[in-house]
Amino acid sequence: MRRKVIAGNWKMNNDLKETQNLLSRLTSGISVNNLNCDVIVCPAFTSLFEAYTLLKDTKIKLGAQNMYFETSGAFTGEISAAMLKSVGCEYVILGHSERRNIFGETDELINNKIKKANASGLKPIFCVGELLEEREAGITEKVIEKQIRSGLKDISSEEMGNMIIAYEPVWAIGTGKTASPEQAEEVHKFIRSLINDKCGASISENIIIQYGGSVNNKNARELLSQKDIDGALIGGASLKADSFIDIIQAT
Ligand code: PEP
Repeated sequence: MRRKVIAGNWKMNNDLKETQNLLSRLTSGISVNNLNCDVIVCPAFTSLFEAYTLLKDTKIKLGAQNMYFETSGAFTGEISAAMLKSVGCEYVILGHSERRNIFGETDELINNKIKKANASGLKPIFCVGELLEEREAGITEKVIEKQIRSGLKDISSEEMGNMIIAYEPVWAIGTGKTASPEQAEEVHKFIRSLINDKCGASISENIIIQYGGSVNNKNARELLSQKDIDGALIGGASLKADSFIDIIQAT
């Protein structure tokens, strides 16, 4: 039985004060040391240490939204894995469609980031997903397969045990359009079969595959009840304590 994992991707929202307010509403609204699922919040870099301080006595875990794969040096504007570890991060989102499509991140770059995160003891939340035109052209599986195979190139079975995969159809992110539970389940099942080919049954049966794309307190329960959907990566609905708590409770 895989334990569900609910993660909030705050994106470029919430300054320090807003972080304090949102986390205070979140931690007072749920039983923070007795959660029925794993909960991760991923604030902006500038709020990570404050979030770590506010969450360190709770079971809520901390993640970042991105990192660079080099150890240190002349990479203006970038953040390393060690820096994220030093402010209490346990997870890092990698390969988000906004990184791929707005900032031009390639499968190769994402693969390097995943390798560095693993080597540094950070757990990647590795995002994959097709564009609307790719779904309409009937090539969803082909796109997902390429992203998975390239992103996970040379990642060992042992490292895979540390990872979360998030299936996020790009057409469903921030648009209010959600994949139907059946559409999402079909792709999750396919991703699990790819992991089975790569690493065998034990890893593929245990790996957490989250769904992301306009998850909210109305659609979460049905999505999360699908056999291969093990949690959710949530953007918009994680910015309001009430809706995030409702989703946590839907597990
Ligand atoms: C996301 O950014 O990962 C996401 C799923 O966003 P939203 O929930 O707003 O669609």
